[in-house]
Amino acid sequence: MKTRSEELRENLDSIKARINEATKSSGRNSREITLIVVTKTFPASDVKILYDLGVRDFGENRDQEASVKSTELPDDCRWHFQGQIQSNKLKSIANWADVLHSIDNLAHARKLDSLVSSDANKDIFVQVSLDNLPNRGGVVPKLLAEFLDEVSAFPHLNFRGLMAVAPLGEEPVVAFKRLKELSDQVIKVHPEAREISAGMSNDFEAAISQGATHIRIGSQMLGVR
Ligand SMILES: *Cc1c(COP(=O)(O)O)cnc(C)c1O
Repeated sequence: MKTRSEELRENLDSIKARINEATKSSGRNSREITLIVVTKTFPASDVKILYDLGVRDFGENRDQEASVKSTELPDDCRWHFQGQIQSNKLKSIANWADVLHSIDNLAHARKLDSLVSSDANKDIFVQVSLDNLPNRGGVVPKLLAEFLDEVSAFPHLNFRGLMAVAPLGEEPVVAFKRLKELSDQVIKVHPEAREISAGMSNDFEAAISQGATHIRIGSQMLGVR
């Protein structure tokens, strides 16, 4: 029987090989890709194994779980929050998360900005809706430019780029192409925000083909939740 450590090493090797293939076939370099392993629901023991295998970027979506888990890992981990934000949890999230991928609400951005001290700016991605259904999260494209003008003005938030989840019932590559086009527009106004957080276990190759720089992989690495 395989140990958990062997299993995770094989999965990591396989994901890395697929990232290499996907970047090569779109004329990109795998060094452009930050692999975030989404460890939500999995124990700190798994995160430690991944850490020993060289992973430093971890994704979580529940404050209660991550605030505990993050204290059990060394300080050089980067913790990414990519879940739905509740305003009353922001203070706690700001304590452990280095990067927030799911900013889609101005009040949350304002509150986060006020919670952060000036020597510890937070990196943020602004989530956009690729299906125009705001209840699934994300700013609708029509309102994006105005939203970004306001968000990029907060002094303690570093706007890094756009984040999205592929809508159900559409070819991911088609949706991620729209995301890339939005990103190209955004970069003209916010040249510092060049990154794209897109792609999960089932669609990361499509996301890489459309310019993703941060991919968020859970189940392909750790198993079904
Ligand atoms: C859970 C989650 C992921 C990882 O999903 P997998 O399909 O398990 O790879 C990525 N992004 C977001 C926003 C998530 O909630």
